[in-house]
Amino acid sequence: MASILAPDALGPTVCVGEILVEIVATTVGDGFREAQPLVGPFASGAPAIFISQCGRLGGQAAMVGAVGDDDFGRVNTDRLKRDGVDISAISIDPDYPSGSAFVRYRKDGSRDFVYNIATSAAARFGWSQVVSDLIDRSGHLHVMGSALSVPSARAVIDKAVDIVKARGGTLSVDPNIRKELKLDEDTERRFARLVAAADLLLPSGEELERAAGVEGEAAAIRRLFELGVKEIVLKRGADGATYFAHQGDRIDAPAFLVQEVDPTGAGDCFGGAYLTCRRLGMSPQQALTYASAAGARNVMVLGPMEGAGTRSELDAFIAATERRS
Ligand code: ATP
Ligand code: MG
Repeated sequence: MASILAPDALGPTVCVGEILVEIVATTVGDGFREAQPLVGPFASGAPAIFISQCGRLGGQAAMVGAVGDDDFGRVNTDRLKRDGVDISAISIDPDYPSGSAFVRYRKDGSRDFVYNIATSAAARFGWSQVVSDLIDRSGHLHVMGSALSVPSARAVIDKAVDIVKARGGTLSVDPNIRKELKLDEDTERRFARLVAAADLLLPSGEELERAAGVEGEAAAIRRLFELGVKEIVLKRGADGATYFAHQGDRIDAPAFLVQEVDPTGAGDCFGGAYLTCRRLGMSPQQALTYASAAGARNVMVLGPMEGAGTRSELDAFIAATERRS
């Protein structure tokens, strides 16, 4: 079956959005109102995690965003460069610090965040000659819903979608909208437009229904295909993932059996791996296996992208790890 995504050879997958460091509380509890042990900084930001996994798997990959002229920024740029990501369109803000997110897990598995994104370098970038040159040669754009709450990212994404599509490139969207990140009406509208324009949609849990605007899994899937989406992969955490194709095909991919240490970033690694494998010409089944491995491997390690694997690391993981039935 011909892939619905532009091949890797057309140009890099580009992700636009927030680049952050994440600092993680080492104890479980309620928030940050008292002094406590922390570990970090870890390279983070959903779009950065996604593109890191693309690069690690050997897909052409590039990131658009900004960091401050500080060590938090260098943690990210060094990391992405090492992963094989083109960082030429990551600008370095001379005036503002790198973005950050402090996270602490609660007993019930939910998370408290303290973000510094909107008033950090992470939110201060825009369309430039370097960005324009990159988009002109890119083959695929991946949009994280979280990036839509960043106005500079929104502006770049708006322009980039049209350019990439006009040259035969494709679009994927991960709704990825946390309850802490409220969208205004304008952003909701943009989000709906992007969903309808997406070739591949990568929602998790209730994001599927939110993206479709209708309730019930089957009805939501149907609606999204009516809107023009071509392929949907629904992420279900430790319950695995499901691929849905326009013509009615469905593949359920059980999760790998692992000890979860830090679930942050699983969805982004899963998505980065799935997309990259598809662009490299793999079947949905094979891409799902790599994606499930990428998500599972990442939850075994503390830090949002510390468990992102290379092709050979994922092959070794797949060979050595049982799957849930
Ligand atoms: P994120 O917190 O990064 O936004 P998400 O909600 O988008 O995550 P999840 O469904 O949590 O995405 O995870 C994506 C995929 O990673 C799952 O479909 C599954 O294949 C794998 N995965 C996630 N958590 C686990 C786990 N505990 N054990 C095994 N595999 C997991
Ligand atoms: Mg997600």
